[in-house]
Amino acid sequence: MNQSVYNFGGGLRQDAPRSRDKTIVGGKGANLAEMAGIGLPVPPGFSITTEVCTAYNGAGKTFDDALRAAVADGLKHIEAATGRSFGDPANPLLVSVRSGARVSMPGMMDTVLNLGLNDATVEGLVSGSGDARFAWDSYRRFIQMYSDVVLGLDHHRFEDALEIIKEDNGFFADIEMNAEHWQALVKDYKAIVEDQLGKPFPQDVHEQLWGAIAAVFDSWESDRAKVYRRLNDIPADWGTAVNVQAMVFGNMGDTSATGVAFTRDPATGERAYYGEWLVNAQGEDVVAGIRTPQYLTTAARTRAGAKPLSMEEAMPGAYGELATVFDLLERHYRDMQDIEFTVEQGKLWMLQTRSGKRTAKAALKMAVDMVHEGLIDEATAIARIDPMALDQLLHPTLDPNAPRDVLTRGLPASPGAAAGAIVFDADTAEHRASLGESVILVRVETSPEDIHGMHAAKGILTARGGMTSHAAVVARGMGRPCVSGASALSIDMTTRTARIGDRALKEGELITLDGASGEVMAGEVAMVEPELVGDFGTLMVWADKHRRMKVRANAETPLDCQVARQFGAEGVGLCRTEHMFFDAGRISAVRQMILADDETGRRTALAKLLPEQRADFQSIFEVMAGLPVTIRLLDPPLHEFLPHSDAEFADLAEATGVGVDHLKRRAGELHEFNPMLGHRGCRLGITFPEIYEMQARAIFEAACDVAEKSGDAPIPEVMIPLVATKRELEILKALVDRQAALVFAEQGRTLEYLVGTMIELPRAALMAGEIAEEAMFFSFGTNDLTQTTLGVSRDDAARFLGPYVEQGIYPRDPFVSLDIDGVGQLVTMAAERGRATRPALKLGICGEHGGDPASIAFCEATGLDYVSASPYRVPIARLAAAQAALAASQL
Ligand code: ADP
Ligand code: MG
Ligand code: MG
Repeated sequence: MNQSVYNFGGGLRQDAPRSRDKTIVGGKGANLAEMAGIGLPVPPGFSITTEVCTAYNGAGKTFDDALRAAVADGLKHIEAATGRSFGDPANPLLVSVRSGARVSMPGMMDTVLNLGLNDATVEGLVSGSGDARFAWDSYRRFIQMYSDVVLGLDHHRFEDALEIIKEDNGFFADIEMNAEHWQALVKDYKAIVEDQLGKPFPQDVHEQLWGAIAAVFDSWESDRAKVYRRLNDIPADWGTAVNVQAMVFGNMGDTSATGVAFTRDPATGERAYYGEWLVNAQGEDVVAGIRTPQYLTTAARTRAGAKPLSMEEAMPGAYGELATVFDLLERHYRDMQDIEFTVEQGKLWMLQTRSGKRTAKAALKMAVDMVHEGLIDEATAIARIDPMALDQLLHPTLDPNAPRDVLTRGLPASPGAAAGAIVFDADTAEHRASLGESVILVRVETSPEDIHGMHAAKGILTARGGMTSHAAVVARGMGRPCVSGASALSIDMTTRTARIGDRALKEGELITLDGASGEVMAGEVAMVEPELVGDFGTLMVWADKHRRMKVRANAETPLDCQVARQFGAEGVGLCRTEHMFFDAGRISAVRQMILADDETGRRTALAKLLPEQRADFQSIFEVMAGLPVTIRLLDPPLHEFLPHSDAEFADLAEATGVGVDHLKRRAGELHEFNPMLGHRGCRLGITFPEIYEMQARAIFEAACDVAEKSGDAPIPEVMIPLVATKRELEILKALVDRQAALVFAEQGRTLEYLVGTMIELPRAALMAGEIAEEAMFFSFGTNDLTQTTLGVSRDDAARFLGPYVEQGIYPRDPFVSLDIDGVGQLVTMAAERGRATRPALKLGICGEHGGDPASIAFCEATGLDYVSASPYRVPIARLAAAQAALAASQL
């Protein structure tokens, strides 16, 4: 049996590795132990392990005697360190009960403070502190918190009761309440509890403690927690730890305070302390939005033009100590820290530290700065950037020259620009986004219940809350632009209207947010493409230095190719040719080709397409001069090019002079029951070789032409799709080679080129050894390979894949992240068998998975030569490939 409780603080050195292991005592517990271990002032406490949570939730939600004994020992540790006793009316120990999963996770139980207070111990707190107001304030906070988060009672009645007392006395702020008022409120609160619960508020401090412990474990199974786990790929069996810790009090008068801080600016990455604090306050007062928090540093206060003193000014001693701790923690963790602290009568206490959430921009700046500061090395900097977070930087920002109709300005809580229709609640956001609409979630403030709506929204706007409010923190984590605390905004939920000054905006009206400046604008403001310079460029240089695999792009237009090259693509991994057939100017020639009665008819139509195709390839080769370009010959079934509506048939009849009836009959003939497995891919080339002949000729003519003009020849890689057998490839390779020879003879030059195939059928993977006799390269078409291996049509999967992932049948959507266990085996096998036949066989991946970091790591391990991703994902793939190579080299 593993140890189930680990103590921290009170001079312990935290030697046991498990006592500092996030997977065992959770992130919060591990860092509290770590801080205590290096001698920082941390109130003593203990952590109950995540293993206990998993056991509890698996075994009828009960606690055994061994755990009860271990918790009793933990309490003794705190009692010894503080000189107080839990439940002792003369000298009571109060504790906080805090949840802490491996990674910080919304949806988990909120912290309960001041646990251990009851009608008897509150008197002890009064006499011990000599401050009756403080003692009764603490007790009323405890009853309200415990009732809300542990007992699940309606918090509105508690809020109303406080309002009534304030109104009766003509008070505006909580600060005006004195001891008698808080005591009276405690009486009201207890009555409310008894009324709702049918029994009194628990007076037994041990019952209070176990109730809170159970509530933490239960919250692991809450809907909110489950949604968050699903969105963030957190396994259900991780569990959460519980931290029980001696209370320190920020609400003991004007020399006490509580605050949150970052060691660097989490929005910009700037090397400056950043934080908010409140005098005479407790716990989450700073983020709750009840009082407006003050700035931590004088520089920030002056910049914002705010009056209330900074902590630097008001408590220079404690602030100086805090600044020392900031630097110590950064050097210790070699990363930016997000810190929670309390000052009790001038003494500083550390209550939490963790690696701070940051915007992608800040992450880049910090990583690059820290390398220059000598804090970390390049490999660490590379490992530290979440490739997917780069996405935020790869997308457009507001055009500085576009006109802006600024409605108001809030706090620049999470950078990036977003435009969309206003929605006022999370469900509406999710619903409208699922219909393809861009929406901006507009709320007074957000709470963990809004997570799904925040995820669905392009941006978030709140009327209340600071830079560390829920909306701000979550938006930064998700990479959603966010403007918080736009105090000029009010929301009328009955008419679903937002009001800003004299402007009224209905739900559905368009607004634009600039999360970097805090501006809120009416309508949709024009945006500009991002620039990949500065820290981004530096990190990319490092990534390129450390990666082994090449990165190409899936691109089929010159514009896509340009974007891809700008993003650092080293070639095209997949150029689909079907869209070239759909072009408005050509579709009628394509249809003529399809409708032709014989080969001669088809060739006549194809002759019209040849110059057009050649021009397409020319412009792509020009952009990709000197680089490999993989061109996939026509893949979709021909019926896709035929008209669907009556009007389209009528148009086609007119253009071709063929009767509508005839056209419809031909379309009927081409109809397939299962087009995905039908007359497509190389099967088209086998049955209508003249189509592939035309395409091959267009490719080689274009390549010769570009080589002639620029002197920098492209390297065409002609790819035959949907091959299952060696014979198919043999026939079609011969066809391509024949065209190459013809064109080269006509043009009087030869160029390097390759013919290869896509591996997208299980049979092709199985027969890879034989197919490699013909193929000079394999490109894993993992979209189709996933469909054909799983027997799941990707176009129909939406209906069941959600529940499949929720129930853990597939850990992630297999069309987004490669099914490494299953499909991955086919890839590995095909790579091995192919290379056994042809050691120089070039291997790449061109499915969606080429831009997914986990799949990229698999490609590295399998020894592929390159991955190919959509243009905007190229930098993501470059970084992920570097991370994979570095991780592999550390094994
Ligand atoms: P979260 O995970 O939501 O950040 P925490 O467990 O950190 O929740 O608790 C929130 C706040 O409660 C802390 O920032 C701190 O201000 C306060 N708090 C928690 N434990 C204590 C304690 N032992 N003494 C004083 N304040 C505490
Ligand atoms: Mg919280
Ligand atoms: Mg916290």
